Amino acid sequence: MRRKAGPARTCEFPDCMNLHDSLGLCSGHRRQRRRGEELRSLREVRPRNLSDEEISNWMLDRAVVVGECLVYSNYKDKRGYGRFNHAGKYALAHRFIYAQKVGPLDDALVVHHKCGNSSCINPKHLQAVTQLENVAEMLDRTNMLRQIEAQSVYIERLKARIAASSCYQ
Ligand SMILES: [Zn+2]
Ligand SMILES: [Zn+2]
Repeated sequence: MRRKAGPARTCEFPDCMNLHDSLGLCSGHRRQRRRGEELRSLREVRPRNLSDEEISNWMLDRAVVVGECLVYSNYKDKRGYGRFNHAGKYALAHRFIYAQKVGPLDDALVVHHKCGNSSCINPKHLQAVTQLENVAEMLDRTNMLRQIEAQSVYIERLKARIAASSCYQ
């Protein structure tokens, strides 16, 4: 059988869609490595003087589609939140997108990711909640995980019992 040509190999840097050049990287990322720099996104620098509306569209246009999520493609902080310089302030991308695309945002409100992906800026996945609701949601999720864990232990025990009983047949 003839081997079909697979999709072209791309750069290993996360979010980079450029074609592979050498050592797992595209030519742009190879250049960064040769210079001994920390690898960073090659994505274009946002043009100056965009309105907030234009900035939000610019971000959404460049987000990486992962399932239903639109993953912010520029700088992310340690917790995975998209960050950018907004008029000289270190702003959070998902909060900014919420305010632009969903509705006015009170400083007291937390923008919660319904999808659980902190890098996601899909307006449909963002929900403004109070700090209290956010904590409640988190507790709910941990509680659910605990229940799932308990269920799987139970299932394993059942399986063991079934296996044991079938030995006597
Ligand atoms: Zn690359
Ligand atoms: Zn999402």
